[in-house]
Amino acid sequence: MPKPRLLVHVCCAPDALYVFGVLGETYDVAGFFSNSNIQPREEYDLRLEEARKVARTAGVPLLEDDYDPDGWTRLTLKFKDEPEKGRRCDVCYAARLRRTAERTARDGFDAFATVMSLSPWKKAAVMNRIGRQFAARAGVAFLEADFKKKDGFKKSVDLSRAHGLYRQDYCGCLYSRDAVRARARTSRTSP
Ligand code: SF4
Repeated sequence: MPKPRLLVHVCCAPDALYVFGVLGETYDVAGFFSNSNIQPREEYDLRLEEARKVARTAGVPLLEDDYDPDGWTRLTLKFKDEPEKGRRCDVCYAARLRRTAERTARDGFDAFATVMSLSPWKKAAVMNRIGRQFAARAGVAFLEADFKKKDGFKKSVDLSRAHGLYRQDYCGCLYSRDAVRARARTSRTSP
């Protein structure tokens, strides 16, 4: 009996490599890189190239969405001053999961999932709720998960180090990059 076809939203290479391994046991997996949140363009290109690399390593096809950072910025502008894990992030998860649900339906996959819950800085319960909503609208299934459980995050860090993958130091948007830089400046100037 063939495995169900699963489209897995990929936000970055380190998370994808671990999750591809976990899901590949049960599903016929394809990746979907849909991340208009990532800025600037050079950072987007770098993360996409790394995602292509891990897809080749895992033997998984990688579909690539259009890059629309201006559209993403318009969507989230109202929440630009929110901290990470705040409402801006909920809108950001939704933007990417909506695209993934629509692509799942369009390309005839049985279900979709996202690797994002692997991160300790991401709210799996919120992502799962949003994923269910878009799945219902698109008429497909959503695989709920929290990949950080069972030491998932630590395993992904070990795996990405073993493969020499690029590990970004901010989540993806310019707001998150600026917050990381501001924290670094404060810690350098603290006594
Ligand atoms: S911090 Fe990360 S999840 Fe939140 S809005 Fe920025 S890119 Fe999206």
